[in-house]
Amino acid sequence: KKALLQELKGKEDVTLDGKKIKLYSNIGNIKDLANVIANDAAGIGLFRSEFIYLESDTFPTEEEQFNIYRTVAESMAGKPVIIRTLDIGADKQCDYFELDKEDNPALGLRAIRICLTRPEIFKTQLRALYRASAYGNISIMYPMIISEQEVDKIKVIENEVKAELTEQGIEFGNPKSGIMIETPAAVIMSRQLAKKVDFFSIGTNDLTQYTLAIDRQNTKLDDFYDAHHPAILAMIRMVVENAHAEGIWAGICGELGADTTLTEEFLKMGVDELSVSAGKVLAVRKVIRETRIS
Ligand code: PEP
Ligand code: MG
Repeated sequence: KKALLQELKGKEDVTLDGKKIKLYSNIGNIKDLANVIANDAAGIGLFRSEFIYLESDTFPTEEEQFNIYRTVAESMAGKPVIIRTLDIGADKQCDYFELDKEDNPALGLRAIRICLTRPEIFKTQLRALYRASAYGNISIMYPMIISEQEVDKIKVIENEVKAELTEQGIEFGNPKSGIMIETPAAVIMSRQLAKKVDFFSIGTNDLTQYTLAIDRQNTKLDDFYDAHHPAILAMIRMVVENAHAEGIWAGICGELGADTTLTEEFLKMGVDELSVSAGKVLAVRKVIRETRIS
């Protein structure tokens, strides 16, 4: 079976009836790049940039981040690279952020909430991302969004960053901006959100946690954690419909996106992109190529 999968390298991610799917890979580190390239992913659908912060014992500088993002973009040689802004908090604690102890960290100050509360941290990362965008096909993706107002605030900060770089005569590119859909609120608001961003990527790990009210870390709840819960599948369908109604694409970058027992169903819902761990790319490619949507 392995040998057969190897033969899928270099083949297109296209269904039997001709729909092209974006089959990308998730990474947490530049060390993962070799595996992504070896497995022939067509891009990076989720670079969990918080690992740069977690592996450091002080805030990574703009220059350090720029070098990492530029390396990833150049290594992918023009293929899309979607970099998620820091998703610190909850299960990913980082001492030097000096966050307060919280009773409910998964519902606490995390991800985009930290960025909007402490714009100096956010702007350093955005400057690095905008600068690196001049060296490849980078998109920026924002985690844990719950409202249109957050997207509006992000846009103001993006514009400030661009104005400052221009003012300083520093080169930067023109990245697309997308959001993770990983809260029930974002699902419900997806039609309105789709008017404001370039793409959606559904984070089924958190979306399942917040929809089923089940802590994704608590293994004692495994019997209740139904990743195939019809509520989750209905939400994915709704997000894709709303994305398409506003002319943007929608993908899945949570674990569920790599579940080959659901690939056919996802494609029939119209899912445009699947971002999976490098080791699963070829298995998903096989199912995409064997699926007829209509
Ligand atoms: C998700 O929540 O599904 C996701 C992809 O992000 P993370 O697992 O990093 O929270
Ligand atoms: Mg998440």
